[in-house]
Amino acid sequence: MKKTLMKWALLLVCMAVGMPAMAQFNVKALKGAVKAVKAVTLTDAQMTEYVKEYIDWMDTHNQVCADDNEYTIRLKKLTEGLTDVEGIPLNFKVYYVIDVNAFACADGSVRIFSSLMDIMSDDELLGVIGHEVGHVAHKDSKNGFRTALLTSALKDGISSQGGTAAKLTDSQLGDLGEALVNSTYSQKQERSADDYGYEFLKSHGKNPWAMALSFQKLKKLQEEAGAQKSSKLNQLFSTHPDLDARIKRMEERATSEGIEKPATE
Ligand SMILES: [Zn+2]
Repeated sequence: MKKTLMKWALLLVCMAVGMPAMAQFNVKALKGAVKAVKAVTLTDAQMTEYVKEYIDWMDTHNQVCADDNEYTIRLKKLTEGLTDVEGIPLNFKVYYVIDVNAFACADGSVRIFSSLMDIMSDDELLGVIGHEVGHVAHKDSKNGFRTALLTSALKDGISSQGGTAAKLTDSQLGDLGEALVNSTYSQKQERSADDYGYEFLKSHGKNPWAMALSFQKLKKLQEEAGAQKSSKLNQLFSTHPDLDARIKRMEERATSEGIEKPATE
């Protein structure tokens, strides 16, 4: 039985694109709060431990597709040879959930949701993967996690013993998950990740039009979700003004490079 994603899982929901107005307001609050805790020292080793703790929690509390599952087999095929980026080892898993999303964690863990795979072609999916890998390569995932960590679970200071990160409680993980839901990458970070995905497709011998086409599918989904207010999707997708601009940008780039738009069904 396909479940909904555990709430905490919505880590920097860049591929889900929409963020409700309330969430955007919270982002501002977060940014103010982070200034106050900037003096807190958080070592790379501690960060690594916290990221690991978080992704382990995620993998335990969401249904991960088994190795012989068709989703896993498809993802494995697509990501063959993708072992690391900028010295960060990559690992890929599919969450069998109804939410349409994907995210990357600072440790190089990339999680693709089965419902996203359902609507994307292989090339489009590779574009999304490239975008997520871009966030890891650009350290967006690391910085985003750090901010969320400092403004939530560790807002009252770091309780560490002998330099090791303290184990987060369930309640702290909850706060962290919430902070991650409310955090967004900047438009500049998203554009850079889009460019990374675009180049990524080209370097894999794929048509980079797939970037724009994948965003168009997300946009269509947003519109459909908006039309049925009771829809589960509506909670995730709301009008996101950036998506149109991102589609346009990717289309213009492919057009200016003289790349022919593939036929779509
Ligand atoms: Zn993104």
